[in-house]
Amino acid sequence: MGTHLSRTVAEGLAFMNLIDGKAIDALSGARIDVVCPSDGVVFASIPASGQADVDRAVQAARNAFDEGPWGRTPAVERGRCLTRLCQLVEKHGTELAALESRDTGKPVRQGRADVVATMRYYEFYGGAADKIHGDTIPFLDGYTALTLREPHGVVAGIIPWNYPLQILARVVGAALAMGNTLVVKPAEDASLTTIRIAELALEAGVPPGVFNVTTGYGREAGAMLSAHPGVDYVTFTGSVGTGTAIQQAAAVHNRGVTMELGGKSPQIVFADADIEAALPVLVNAIIQNGGQTCSAGSRVLIERPIYEEVATGLAERFARLAAGPHDADLDLGALLNARQRDRVAAMVAEAERAGIRVLARGSIDKAAPAGGFYFAPALFGAVDPGAAIAQQEVFGPVLTLFPFEDEQDAIRLANGTDYGLVCGVWTKDGARQHRVAKRVRSGQVFINGYGAGGGIELPFGGFKRSGHGREKGLEALYDMSATKTIVFNHG
Ligand code: ADP
Repeated sequence: MGTHLSRTVAEGLAFMNLIDGKAIDALSGARIDVVCPSDGVVFASIPASGQADVDRAVQAARNAFDEGPWGRTPAVERGRCLTRLCQLVEKHGTELAALESRDTGKPVRQGRADVVATMRYYEFYGGAADKIHGDTIPFLDGYTALTLREPHGVVAGIIPWNYPLQILARVVGAALAMGNTLVVKPAEDASLTTIRIAELALEAGVPPGVFNVTTGYGREAGAMLSAHPGVDYVTFTGSVGTGTAIQQAAAVHNRGVTMELGGKSPQIVFADADIEAALPVLVNAIIQNGGQTCSAGSRVLIERPIYEEVATGLAERFARLAAGPHDADLDLGALLNARQRDRVAAMVAEAERAGIRVLARGSIDKAAPAGGFYFAPALFGAVDPGAAIAQQEVFGPVLTLFPFEDEQDAIRLANGTDYGLVCGVWTKDGARQHRVAKRVRSGQVFINGYGAGGGIELPFGGFKRSGHGREKGLEALYDMSATKTIVFNHG
């Protein structure tokens, strides 16, 4: 196995930072226990990096950008490194899926789906690296003006814990395709596959120092990295509060950021919709990954004449849902940790206290270990659109239903939160599909579907408090680079 096993301690696997191509511990030797959410048992540990470790990683990325071969590596070669990384992810797919599931509690089926999407990111950005180019601009007589797309330099990537493999891949794919170097700080609860991918990137030919990983706590290593003067650009996916803190740190240095900060995404079901086609998609959009998905479809708006029918269909499906250990591969796994589980439970208890009706609860599998962080899915309806459960991101398997009267009402409700990430629209009326798609304030709109196919090619990001900047697709390559304009006065 890889260098992550270079030190084995009594309590389990001791993973290392990867800085300048070397597996090294935090200078202080401090470590963080890694707990499997399915049983609450410690099975590994990661370095608790401090300032010296972050300094070292940023310096390695700086050197690799300023002096190393990466800055002179042609785009086609950078692309080939990513394509080889895709192949290595495929080769190690079983190991990576198992590690991701054990680290995050997600069903192994989801772990495997994440590996497939991860490969696709490296494939996509591997192919795209040499296909992004600048313009020539008609300008004054006697001049030629052109633009180049240039890398920012050292990019800091702060990665969340819900889809570590996938979110890392969209950051690494786009950043390296454009010629940046990277320091990545994965989430303290889900760092293991990030370390493995960084090792595989070395094997794929990415030079040492180009892709560095420092693990650690958000308020320590994360804050140190986002405030570091040696960083040129920050990309972050996570909670709104942490996003604000990272932007404040970036503002001190006037550096650019990409922020993907979650949502309260609606699905609008009109009376003419194909309800049978919609029902499984509506359930999956909130249950996938235990609802711990930025783009989870957490609100379903239903036109009044079909409200009872859709609510009944959803309730039947919710009652059959079961949560269990990742290797049991049920509908959903445990939530990430006790804090997340308790947060979700507190929001559900508050909604119940406020008198909002629970239409159905799923169950926790009887064989699930008592120490795991399980939460039985909950379906609420009809919900007052002003209620906390209707406005705040739960980040758990909790779905809220709302009746609406007409198209105007549906759009008002859909736009009636602080967020604007994704929207689903279910109707057979083509003109309405276009009208609603244009009037909802969200970064993606799906008509008669939701989140189809992983969407690696599809630009993704928020309106309003869901963030700014775009990831995925070719658009991410623009976020990961800056335009340089060159003007020749040749007379
Ligand atoms: P959660 O609250 O669900 O853990 P966060 O948005 O805080 O979600 O975490 C996403 C990522 O941000 C993780 O890698 C985490 O370590 C990191 N992080 C948390 N707090 C900070 C901070 N103050 N500065 C930089 N990164 C942080």
